Amino acid sequence: MTFENSLDFARQLDEKDSLKHFRDKFYIPIINGNECIYFTGNSLGLQPKTTQDYVLNELEDWASFGVEGHFHARQPWFSYHEMFPQLLTKIVGALPEEIVVMNQLTVNLHLLMASFYQPTKERFKIICEAKAFPSDQYALETQAKFHGLNPDEVIIEVAPRDGEHAIRTEDIIATIKQHGSQTALVIFGGVNYYSGQVFDMKTITKAAHQAGAYCGFDLAHAAGNIELHLHNWDVDFACWCSYKYLNSGPGGVAGAFINKKHTDNTALPRLAGWWGYEKATRFQMEKGFKPIATAEGWQLSNAPVLSMAAHKASLDIFEEAGIENLIAKGQQLSDYLFFIIEDLNAASSEKKIEIITPKESKGCQVSMLMLQKGKDVFDALKQNGVLADWREPNVIRVAPVPMYNSFEDVWKFGEIVKLILNHK
Ligand SMILES: *Cc1c(COP(=O)(O)O)cnc(C)c1O
Repeated sequence: MTFENSLDFARQLDEKDSLKHFRDKFYIPIINGNECIYFTGNSLGLQPKTTQDYVLNELEDWASFGVEGHFHARQPWFSYHEMFPQLLTKIVGALPEEIVVMNQLTVNLHLLMASFYQPTKERFKIICEAKAFPSDQYALETQAKFHGLNPDEVIIEVAPRDGEHAIRTEDIIATIKQHGSQTALVIFGGVNYYSGQVFDMKTITKAAHQAGAYCGFDLAHAAGNIELHLHNWDVDFACWCSYKYLNSGPGGVAGAFINKKHTDNTALPRLAGWWGYEKATRFQMEKGFKPIATAEGWQLSNAPVLSMAAHKASLDIFEEAGIENLIAKGQQLSDYLFFIIEDLNAASSEKKIEIITPKESKGCQVSMLMLQKGKDVFDALKQNGVLADWREPNVIRVAPVPMYNSFEDVWKFGEIVKLILNHK
């Protein structure tokens, strides 16, 4: 599509957008008396207007039933978590029995590594992306130490080449090949949180398996944002949080995927709790852990129902909108943002913004390396009612989210940036 940098054109795109009404289902924060332009749905998604009712229902049932709510609540808490796999199958591209909603993201990362990172003398290396999200870096570092190993010998990071911002798939494959039979685990983000690069998960998984390693992904920035086919790509495991693109509230309950080929393998090491125990006999409370033969077998604790109620409110909206439609609009929004920034650069005698997100492998986040006045632009954005995200030393991350952002939002953003950059 050929874009135009005009309010009229942006409004035409909004007019044609079949998802435009979904914006009304969310609370948009107010800045200086006006609805802000919210471009930080990649950090914390907005609150659906239905969330309060979903949570309130559970509070009411708790008040009415006390402990009996486990079986007599309108949506019994005993099996509350069982609603989620079906709602997430299309979002992550997995079979229901491969999905479980539990804990929080970094906790799940550790739990899954307890199963899928079992270093031996010969095979102990972990291959990952350079500049992974800090929590993931700390998880990998401490997993290595936990096994009595030196993180510097275990963790192999693949970085962009000099002068480039994205990591080349060929370099990832070459690194996996290079470390070959020493590689225990390949673990990447689905989307890098900083650059917004989408990794080629299918190709990476294949290369990991050819080296005899397991392959897992942290989908914090991918779930609800890009196309995922975890099952068909033969990924071993994955985890994600629900509070970014999935709009389920701060610190909300997270998710995990364990490939069907592993779920009934009771020989896989794991850290267990009673909620992962076979349902039929769980309450006999016998000695000897017998895991459920699905991803639920990795559960430790009973369901955090209040947080899950918020998750349900949001996933019901995803069902209604359709993940394919959201992904398509997300691509169009970010393409429009690319165009607006390129237009802004072209209109000036020197380049002012370098986009570090690869155009052909992105979700709905665009990361802008500010070549001038970075912090000024960022501060002025906030004053003008735009919420974006600042990353040291000089990157502004902008996420036009298909669920509630508009093309007009993107156009206005461009106008504000232009004003600030041209201000003497
Ligand atoms: C947001 C994010 C996290 C945050 O972890 P929590 O356990 O949810 O606090 C971890 N990893 C990545 C890649 C993220 O983007």
